[in-house]
Amino acid sequence: DKPTVTIIGLGSMGQALASAYLEAGHRTTVWNRTPAKADDLVARGATRAATVSDAVWASDLVVLCVLDYAAVDELLAPNADVLKDRVVVNLTNGRPDQARRTGEWATAQGAEYLDGGIMAIPSMIGTPEAFILYSGSRTAFERYEAALRVLAEPKFVGTDAGLAALNDLALLSGMYGTLAGARHATALVGPERAAEFTTSLLIPWLQAMANILAPSSAEREAGDREAGDLPSEESPLDMQAAGLANIIEASRSAGVGVDLLTHLLTPMRDIIAAGEGDVLTDLVEVIGKEIR
Ligand code: NDP
Repeated sequence: DKPTVTIIGLGSMGQALASAYLEAGHRTTVWNRTPAKADDLVARGATRAATVSDAVWASDLVVLCVLDYAAVDELLAPNADVLKDRVVVNLTNGRPDQARRTGEWATAQGAEYLDGGIMAIPSMIGTPEAFILYSGSRTAFERYEAALRVLAEPKFVGTDAGLAALNDLALLSGMYGTLAGARHATALVGPERAAEFTTSLLIPWLQAMANILAPSSAEREAGDREAGDLPSEESPLDMQAAGLANIIEASRSAGVGVDLLTHLLTPMRDIIAAGEGDVLTDLVEVIGKEIR
């Protein structure tokens, strides 16, 4: 028998999660602070819970997907008495410390706790590109892995409940940097060329650049480079500083903001001036230190 599932929180993401369970034939119970957001799901076969307590009681798996942990606390704290023997899967975005605190609290009420980070937008739920990071109770994860797979590829990242949030925030920081860079690129080529440029050039280029994060098989055999280390020696820093200055000038002429780039050029020039280093790796080190 398929596990029964409750979804608490029916914003754009919660709606997608509940739809996926309905389509996969799981008995699905829903609750949302603004009840009207459940209407469509109820018309398609979901059961409306009148209270959060009823929603928690109703199912084997209790999935929370609300705005933030303040909302999670508001919903769970008054319902501590119904959490015993429930499996709580919290897919709300948050920090590692918030996930750990909620996990400890829920476990103290007798629940099993899984924290999760959804690496997808709502329209990707149920598609092969989507994945969801989980951390916390390994036994709960293993017991419900098939049911979690309905939403997206499930990836368990550790029994420390904070690890899904940590990996989620790290991936999002990579995404924001990449997407901001991509936006700069399309602004520079201009609106008429942006669509064609994105399809034929920008996407293949970003994919190729993402691939340099993985060492080649020769480098792996030689033990030269770990995944995430950048290749050194190939791209001298003074060459890159000259190129970056050109991008900045061309952007200024095109009326495109340059803040994303000047924060790279300044430390780059400092390194060159100090004669401290000459490769991409050195620049990335400096930026890494500034970020810390
Ligand atoms: P929405 O803004 O669409 O929905 C927010 C939800 O939170 C609504 O159901 C809202 O209820 C509920 N909520 C907010 N505050 C409270 C509260 N104090 N008490 C009870 N319920 C509350 O956001 P999403 O559905 O898009 O996002 C939900 C979570 O999913 C977030 O943590 C987000 O980071 C994560 N996520 C979203 C992605 C996306 O692309 N949408 C991608 C990956 C993760 P009400 O309807 O009553 O306002």
